[in-house]
Amino acid sequence: MPVPEADDARLTEISAKKLNVLVTGGAGFVGSHLCEFLIGRGYYVFCLDTFQTGRASNLSTIGHNGRLTVVQHDIKAGIPDDLPVFSEIYNLACPASPVHYQADPVSTAMTNSQGTWNVLCRAERDNARVFHASTSEIYGDPEVHPQSEEYWGNVNPVGPRSCYDEGKRFAESLCTDFGRTRGLAVRMARIFNTYGPRMQEDDGRVVSNFIIQALLGRPLTIYGDGSQTRSFCYVDDLIRGIDLLMHSDVAGPVNIGNPAELAVGELAQLVLEITGSKSTVLHMPLPVDDPRRRKPDITRAGETLGWRPLTELREGLTRTIAYFDSELSKQARPSSGTPGPRLRAASA
Ligand code: NAD
Ligand code: UDP
Repeated sequence: MPVPEADDARLTEISAKKLNVLVTGGAGFVGSHLCEFLIGRGYYVFCLDTFQTGRASNLSTIGHNGRLTVVQHDIKAGIPDDLPVFSEIYNLACPASPVHYQADPVSTAMTNSQGTWNVLCRAERDNARVFHASTSEIYGDPEVHPQSEEYWGNVNPVGPRSCYDEGKRFAESLCTDFGRTRGLAVRMARIFNTYGPRMQEDDGRVVSNFIIQALLGRPLTIYGDGSQTRSFCYVDDLIRGIDLLMHSDVAGPVNIGNPAELAVGELAQLVLEITGSKSTVLHMPLPVDDPRRRKPDITRAGETLGWRPLTELREGLTRTIAYFDSELSKQARPSSGTPGPRLRAASA
């Protein structure tokens, strides 16, 4: 993605001090865009990832000039001692798609609890600033619409989404108390449904599913009657929001999402229209505890960060469709053998 302007003083400091930053979950969809952005800013980026839902190939295509080190490592096991001192830590490690976070729910819960604790302890040791990726899922199946940061949510603590929803709620609590009682600078974004290039094809999320199905001429799988709503944010807008939030003094959670709300059935029609696909739609059972409505109130992000999304859904979907189209056609061709980032063995 293009790197937006940063003030000259900050860019000079980054380049003069050779600042190291850690991105957990950096090989995932959002993490790879964040690594690319940070490298563009001149940081030395260290990515820790299990590759549970991320891929090294997400990082192999980004220009890194030797500034990227990828370590296969699980944050539940701590942060490796032999990595350098970090000035900033971005904690994104956690599968985000319901299919994947429910595949090993205990691991998801522990990544958000033990893993986040490990990240915060390392940040305290390094005196690093922390960004934590929280989620709109902390609002559960919301009874308030749109959702503002003041709303406490409606989460089933024992449902199939609980490992993620409650895990992220606990992580917010832990981050808040590290800030409140131990003076750590922690910034938290409640990220609403985000989409864009480098989503996994088999991620199970609605945008990637519909695009792949449309491109392959398969039926688009609408769960339930398709009247449930979501609000989709293009990944470049999210990354800009993360950067603004990380370098702000806003201590509480901030919603980052696009308030343009639409029904899942409408999304299916839009994908069919843009791709020109002749696919049909297939209605399937609605998953348990699937939220009925979701739309961020982004007043706080606007007032405190001057942030708002800039990418219209149609434009973002068109770019995402072009990405998946190219990925599908590449699969028929042999690999180009492009050299990737330095990949290190994990250490405890
Ligand atoms: P993703 O699944 O593509 O990426 C998550 C990455 O974390 C993957 O590369 C995965 O291998 C890695 N990972 C998982 N557990 C790990 C562990 N224990 N140790 C190290 N690495 C681990 O998901 P994403 O969409 O890129 O989401 C990134 C973050 O943003 C997540 O924390 C997610 O909860 C949050 N978020 C995303 C969205 C969205 O719509 N994409 C919405 C809300 C919140
Ligand atoms: N969904 C759907 N078809 C799919 C995948 C998802 O209708 O192939 C629905 C899902 O039930 C939910 C919405 O789309 O109502 C968004 O699902 P996703 O998994 O992308 O995100 P989340 O539920 O976490 O918001």
